[in-house]
Parts: sequence; structure tokens; C-alpha cells
Amino acid sequence: MEGPCLDWYNYSSEKLETHLKTNVSNGLSQKEAKSRLKRLGPNQLKAEKKVSNLQLFIRQFKDFIVALLIVVTCIAAYLGEAIDALVIVIIICLNSLLGFWQEKKAQRSLEKLKSLTQPESKVLRDGQFINVLSQELVVGDIVAIEAGMRVPCDLRLIDHHQVVIDESALTGETVSVHKSTTTLNDDHLPIHDQVNMAFMGTLVKSGRATGVVVSTGVNTEVGQIASLITTAKKEKTPLEQRLEHLGHILIVISLALTALVVFFGIIQGQAIYQMFLSGISLAVAIIPEGLPAIVTVVLSLGVQRMIKQKVIIKSIQAVETLGATTVICSDKTGTLTENKMSVSQVYLPDQLIAILGGYRLTGGISTKHSMKTKQALNQLLKKAVTCTNATIKETNQKVEMDGDASEIAILMAAVKCQLSIDACKRPDIIKEIPFDSDRKRMSVLVKSHHTYESIVKGAPEVLLNQSNRILKEGQVHPLSQQVKDKLNKRLTEMTKSGQRVMAICYKPIYKITESMEDNLIFMGYIGLNDPPRKHVKQAIRQAKKAGVKTVMITGDHTDTASAIAKQLTILPSGGQVITGQELVQMSDDELCERINSTYVFARVTPFDKLRIVKAYQQQNEVVAMTGDGVNDAPALKKSDVGISMGIAGTDISKETADIILMDDNFKTIIAAIREGRIIYQNIKKFIRYILTSNTGELLVMLFSLLIGLPLPLVPVQILWVNLITDGLPALALGLDKGHANIMDEPPRKKKESLFSQGVGTMILLRGLMMGLMTFLMFILAYQFLGGSLAYARTMTFMTLILSQLVHAFDCRNHQMSVKQLLFGNGYLLISVLLSIVQMIVIVYYPPLQAIFHTVGLNRFDWIFIIMFSLFPTFFFHFTKK
Ligand code: ADP
Ligand code: MG
Repeated sequence: MEGPCLDWYNYSSEKLETHLKTNVSNGLSQKEAKSRLKRLGPNQLKAEKKVSNLQLFIRQFKDFIVALLIVVTCIAAYLGEAIDALVIVIIICLNSLLGFWQEKKAQRSLEKLKSLTQPESKVLRDGQFINVLSQELVVGDIVAIEAGMRVPCDLRLIDHHQVVIDESALTGETVSVHKSTTTLNDDHLPIHDQVNMAFMGTLVKSGRATGVVVSTGVNTEVGQIASLITTAKKEKTPLEQRLEHLGHILIVISLALTALVVFFGIIQGQAIYQMFLSGISLAVAIIPEGLPAIVTVVLSLGVQRMIKQKVIIKSIQAVETLGATTVICSDKTGTLTENKMSVSQVYLPDQLIAILGGYRLTGGISTKHSMKTKQALNQLLKKAVTCTNATIKETNQKVEMDGDASEIAILMAAVKCQLSIDACKRPDIIKEIPFDSDRKRMSVLVKSHHTYESIVKGAPEVLLNQSNRILKEGQVHPLSQQVKDKLNKRLTEMTKSGQRVMAICYKPIYKITESMEDNLIFMGYIGLNDPPRKHVKQAIRQAKKAGVKTVMITGDHTDTASAIAKQLTILPSGGQVITGQELVQMSDDELCERINSTYVFARVTPFDKLRIVKAYQQQNEVVAMTGDGVNDAPALKKSDVGISMGIAGTDISKETADIILMDDNFKTIIAAIREGRIIYQNIKKFIRYILTSNTGELLVMLFSLLIGLPLPLVPVQILWVNLITDGLPALALGLDKGHANIMDEPPRKKKESLFSQGVGTMILLRGLMMGLMTFLMFILAYQFLGGSLAYARTMTFMTLILSQLVHAFDCRNHQMSVKQLLFGNGYLLISVLLSIVQMIVIVYYPPLQAIFHTVGLNRFDWIFIIMFSLFPTFFFHFTKK
């Protein structure tokens, strides 16, 4: 069975069974599947090549400036500054280690994400359909595919219902293929003509089918075409791009200023190579080449935190966009509601029957109903059950159901009304047109007595249009306009109470080729209840406070949608509802005009979603849009944040989405927006911190040289200061929890600069102040406190570090109390304490004194240092008021 065989399309079902040693009605046994998996390997294409640790580490040295520093250090070593040179090399290595660790962390969180989004498939094993990871499929498995799925491996189809597959990914052919199951008899058929085959990686557009796995992994058609193995290119997010751009500007400015420092130094007679060493050290210190790296780390750590909130981020860019989101367009069913449906009412022409028991298998109808009513009800339920794809089985006295929520509800109602499990199982289906949200109905053709019968269930407006008769008390009557009006009135009553209503119709058919969906006999309505999810109301309120509008989009009836939207406070009084029908007649301009006062879109199809997204975007809104079906993909792609559902979502919707909600819950979107805002603010915080610190470092050097003093810091000290600031405290700021009222602020503008709201000025002023105070400290220590140059430098060194540590707290938030500021971020507190410990060790431990050119300080020195470091904070605090 291992040998490659390219003409599977010529194999009949029986021949497949013997050749692949499988059984079409029972599938493989779990044991056999396991042993085949071991023997044949997993069903996956070649894995991407990984970057080794060593490569990652070496990459950190590629930077031009760092390389330059190494060269100059070698010169310094040659000229006799051996210890200095060694220390510089060590610091550079530490710096690289930091970069290495950060990248590693980012890499790991991305890998974890990947493992969370592995697709699953429905496969027949030991006679039962179960879900397994698509990777674990083996040759001989019987696999079910349906609309929205990517075909998981190469299949020879053995059963199908209107299945249409888009094979453009494999063949480039854009016309989708209507598949069949007939055995062919031909040689060397091109892929496009192998109509009874489904190929790995192609997309099921509609319908459903089952097939036998004929090849997996690299043996599949797509596996044979090496070029098709897409290695996802890592794209930089807009923020990373902007930062890179900013980085380039800053490099030029820093280099120019550094050159200035070197120039002044040399004019004043400092040793040229020393000046070069200082200059380049300064350049290394103040060029924020690490910024994009830290941003990546913070983004990917944020992505990890999001996983805990049940959000899978697929494109890292979404983290940023989430924070700027202004409108959420959310599906109703399953996202705003529980998707735990139960039939609450059934309408049979002329009576409304309540089905008791809610979302449970117990209950039924009141005993006061007559036998005749019961029979009529069961007849309707039996028909409805026949027209579903949901499955029911009884294992160990427990009834299990699987499938679409509305269809499960119908099965449940049937069980409640005492239809036996066997009566609930579907008879053989001759033909089926599966449900989709565009047609809003589903039909089946079954055998009945001597002829056939078609059963249709779906949206009432659609089916009433297709009906010309009505079944009433066992008799078929013509459907007059008067009766239709009455039925419509009933419909309004049922939908107004928030029920999702489906009509059930049928008709006898004499020839298989006859149309299944017109001239129907109307039987009745089924009213379904789907309670709103818990906490969604709160989440909507929170969104409103945060300046984010929630809009409901649904295929359900206007009244059903409005009723639930009102319950959830999505629809305010005076808010508008637009239906799919109105939408079709509306021009784009008209839609744009009305869209701001619209809160609900009802009876829309997935295609309408694209127009809705576009209209909002034209109003400069940043739109998050949810979706789960095949046809939602275009809207998901177009929206700023495309959101797919982890449970109900199809493969294709998950592929196109930017984020996936693991629990399908609306509430989770709000949690994600909050997290997105926090992350963006954190990035702003550490950028502010690093740039201010660098400005301070540069200015202290420049000031001293300008007025003819010796260098206030030696290269080792500069590099060390830089390592401390760019290291833990910056990262700790990136991990800030975010302040409590972050969801009380309006969303940030999408194009807003990182330096808006006075942040840019703050950086310059604060950097200036930091440089000035440190410089004054140098003068004070050098000229007045009468110390040696080493003493003065130690004082300067310590002041600079401490000012930066103090400033880290300033960067958190200006609206917090002192206690919150100090203790609100544990990481920051710890990293600052660690930094203080190392300051003390550097100053008092003799071997380190030699390395860092420091001398011991006394109590008064420290008081000066603390005062000079704290001054800017107080200064800005009081001048602001
Ligand atoms: P939603 O956006 O709320 O998920 P759908 O597009 O799934 O709405 O459903 C729209 C309408 O189609 C429903 O109001 C119902 O009348 C009908 N419908 C829903 N599911 C089914 C189904 N499985 N079979 C037949 N009709 C259905
Ligand atoms: Mg639906």
C-alpha cells in the first residue's frame, strides 16, 4: 500500500478498500492508525529551518557601530589599556546576550502560537467520527470535509453533497471545481480533471464530502511541488517600521553629536585614540539600535499574555491596531449569544405550542395538548430532524449530539417530545443542499413511501415565498394571501420576543430531477431561544466607555436581532437597524450617511459585511470584524482587525483573521483591546525612558567638553550606564500592567505619533535636565568638593545611573499616587533594586573599582547624589501644577 500510485481516480470504493486495507463504513482502528502514523510519518510538509542559538548570538554583533567599537578596543588594548579593553569586550558581550535572550523569548512565544493554531480534522476511526490533529491523519483514513476547510491531505472522495472546491492554490485555476464520486477510467489526468479527488491545501467552498486518504505529507500533490511550501515571511509591524525609521534619524543625529564631542575633545588636547574610544562608546550608548528589538520582545510577550486571555494573535500587527479600534462589528449568534440554543416554541397552523425544559433533554409539552396535536408536532419534528446535519448517538445511557447549534436544538426538542433516538437518526439522503448563510435554507431529498419527498428548512420569509400550500390538521390546503398575512403576523410575534425562527416545509417529489425548493407545503415554525452570553452586557458598556462602538451583524430576522440588541444595550433608543434588503438598495454614499446611527445589521449575508467594513473605514473608523464562515474571509481581510472564532470558525476564516478568540466570546474582544492599549502604552513608556536617558548621557559629555573640562565619564562607565538602562528597567517598563482607567480613555488615533501629547518635548526637557544636573554634579565634585578626577567621575557616574532609575518611575504614569508609582510594577522595582546593589558593589568592591575607575564614597556624597538625581522629578512635578 505504500507504493506511489497516481491514478487513484480510477479506483472504485471496493478497490480502494482492499488496496489501502481500510473499511469505508468503519474507518481504521485507532491502533492501526497509530501504527501507520509511526511507519509513514506525520501528515505535514517540510518543517521550516530553524535559526540555531549560535547564529542568533552572532547576529547580535553584526551591527556596524558595535563592530567599530571592537576594532577601536583592539587598538586601545594594543596601546596598553588592556583592562579597559577587556571590560569593554565583556560589556559588549553582555549587551549581545541581552539581545540574544530577547530574541529567543520572542521566537519561543511565536512557536507557542503556532502550536495553538494547528488544524484538526474529522476522521472515522473504529466506526465513529472523531476529531484529530490533521498532522495525525494516515493513508486509509476516512476523512470528512466541509465548507470552509482546507483539505488536510489528498483524498479520493467516496460520498459528497454539492461539494465545490477551489483548487487555485494548487493549480492556479480560479474556477472552482464541482466534485463527484464516480470512478473514472482514464490515464494521466491533469489535477483539474480528477474530479473525484480532493487535494491537500485546496479550499472547500461549499457543501461537504467524505473521502479516503490516499497520500499524506510530502507524498501529496502539493508536497511534491517544493515551491508551494510557503515559508511565512516575517513582516515588520507599522510600529516597528516607524521605529526603524526613527532609529535611522537618531543614528545620524547621534553620530553628528558624537563627532562634535570628539572634535571638542581633540581641540582641547585629549589623546586622539582616547577621544575616539570615548566617542564610539558614546555612540554605542546613545544610538537606540536596540529599540526595535525591545519592541518586538514587548509585542511578543504581550502576545503571550493574550493567550492567557484566550486570544490568539496571528499577525503581531494586530496588537497595535487593537488599541486603536473604534468600532467592533460582531456576529450575534455564538459571539454575543451563548450558541446554546433550545426550541422554545413550535407553531403549527393555528396553534402555538410551548416546548418546556430549555437547554436540557428533559421537559416536553404540557399534558393538556390533545393526541392529535402531539402527532402533528411529532410529524413536524421528524421532518425537521431529517433536514439536519447534526448527529445523535447514545453511549452508556448518555445521549450525545454534535453539529450546528440550531440543529442540535431541534434534535433535543425531538427527544423531549419522545421521539426515539432511532427515529431521530437521519434516513438515507438522496440529495442535500447544505445550509449556508447566503441562501438561508437547507434542503434534503429522501425516499418516502413509493416516491420521494423534499424537506426544506430555513428563514421564514424565504420559505413563505416558495410555498403555495399549507398543511393544517392533516390536510393540505392552498396558501391564500390572507393566510400568509396571518403567518407573517405570527412570525413577527415570535421574533419580537427574541426568538430565532425557522420554517419547515416539504413536498412530495415524483422525479429525482424535479426542483426541491419551490411550490412547497408549509408545515410550521420552530422558535429557538439563544440566551445572551454572561458578562457581554458589561463588556459592551466597557467598550462604550472606552469610545468603542459595538455593532451587531446577523443573518437573523430584524426583530430577533433588535430584541437581543436591546437586551444587550447595543441598540439605544433612536438607534437604527438596517436589513440586508435595504442594504442592497442603498448607495454607498447613503450607507455612509446612515452608518453612524446604525447599531444592528439584520438578515445580511457574509458578502454584505465587506460593504459594511468599507463604509466604516470611509468614516475613518478602525474596524474590528468577527466572522467564522468561508464567505466571511473577504470582510475579515479588509477589516483592520479580523477576528475569527476558535471553536466555530472554519479553517479559512482562521487563516485570514488577525486574531482568533479561543472561546468565541465577545467579552474576549474587549479584553484584547485592553491588552492592546496597554502594550502600546508600555512601548511608549520605554521609548520615552530610553531616549531621555540617552539624551542625558550625551549632554553631560557635551557640556563638559564645551567648557573645557576633562571627560566626565570614561568609556567603560558610559557603556555600563547604557547596559543598565537599556536592560532590565526598560524591559520592566514594557511589562507594565497598565493603569486602571486605561479603558476610560478614547482610542488613540491610528496614525498618532509616538511623540504626540507632549511626549517629545518631555523627552528633550527631561533629558536636558538630567544632563544638566549630572554635569553640575561633575563640576561640584571636581571643582568644589576638591576631589580627584576619579572621585568626580564616580560621583557623576552614580548620579547619571540613579537619575535614570528615578526617571523610569516617572515614565510609568503621571496620574498615579506615589505608592502606585513605586510599587505598582514589581519587575521595575526589582530591576531598580538590583541596579542599586550593583552601584554599591561597583563603588566599594576594590577589584571592580579598578575596572570601573571608581573610588569609595562617603555618606555626604550619597546625599548629594540622591538630591541631584531626584531634583528633575520634583522640578517637573511642581512646575506642572
Ligand atoms: P447568524 O448570523 O445569526 O448566524 P445565519 O445566517 O446563520 O445567522 O442564519 C440566518 C437564518 O437562517 C436564521 O434566522 C434561520 O432562520 C436560518 N437558519 C440558520 N441556521 C439554519 C440551518 N442550520 N438550517 C436551516 N436554516 C437555518
Ligand atoms: Mg450562523
